[in-house]
Amino acid sequence: HPALALTTVTKRYRETLALDDVSFAVRPGELVALVGPSGAGKSTVFRCLTRLVAADAGHVDILGTRVDRLRGRALREVRRTIGLIFQQFNLIGRLSALDNVLAGRLGHVSTWRVATRLFPAEDRQIALAALDRVGLLDKAYQRADSLSGGQQQRVAIARVLAQQSRVVLADEPVSSLDPGSAANVIGVLRDIAREHRIGVLCALHQVDFARDYADRIVALRGGRLVLDAPAKEFDDAA
Ligand code: ADP
Ligand code: ADP
Repeated sequence: HPALALTTVTKRYRETLALDDVSFAVRPGELVALVGPSGAGKSTVFRCLTRLVAADAGHVDILGTRVDRLRGRALREVRRTIGLIFQQFNLIGRLSALDNVLAGRLGHVSTWRVATRLFPAEDRQIALAALDRVGLLDKAYQRADSLSGGQQQRVAIARVLAQQSRVVLADEPVSSLDPGSAANVIGVLRDIAREHRIGVLCALHQVDFARDYADRIVALRGGRLVLDAPAKEFDDAA
């Protein structure tokens, strides 16, 4: 089954039709760019996938599980398998890069503080290997807030790697970065998706990055899917 899929999803907020019969999937190992102007429905796609909102019609699958039907504990378990990457990094600034990555493995921000000291050596090794993979092993013990934006976003990528997520949702992950760092971060994300067979859905407003780094581009406009094509076929006029 795909890493994630929307099938004929419709979502309304009162009178606004935010998603209108939208279907697309992201396969393991693939980075799909989600593009479209402000108000097109990109955030609503993410909210449906994490089940922050319920679709009015259609279904939403994460790794073959219908999240639109889940509640309570089963829903929390599926959510824990989803790696999240945000525009503003969402690291805990006064903690080290390593502790931020370990927190991702534990999955519980409320208890990880105590638990980091109790982590089996294996978790620490996995976290260090993840930092090494994103080129930040030498920053493992530095406070997250002392790192550059590009480095912080690579810590966030290491966090989803250590979490061993098979599905990653990245919401404008490079919008706060200078073009050089942005290209580096999106390139790392794409390579890791391939290596670890992770399905990545990545909202991007930079169409040039989408064309250069994504495997496919899904475009929304006014809540409708207007394009789903290999990135190399993407044409600005779409
Ligand atoms: P209420 O039920 O209190 O009127 P809404 O359902 O209108 O609240 O809004 C809930 C949340 O969604 C709020 O955080 C609001 O800022 C946000 N929101 C409301 N309208 C829009 C919109 N058109 N686009 C994006 N976010 C919105
Ligand atoms: P994007 O992320 O592409 O900017 P959104 O998914 O945030 O688009 O919004 C899609 C549409 O739904 C827009 O018309 C927006 O104003 C509306 N919308 C989003 N959230 C809310 C909300 N909570 N309440 C009412 N309308 C909303």
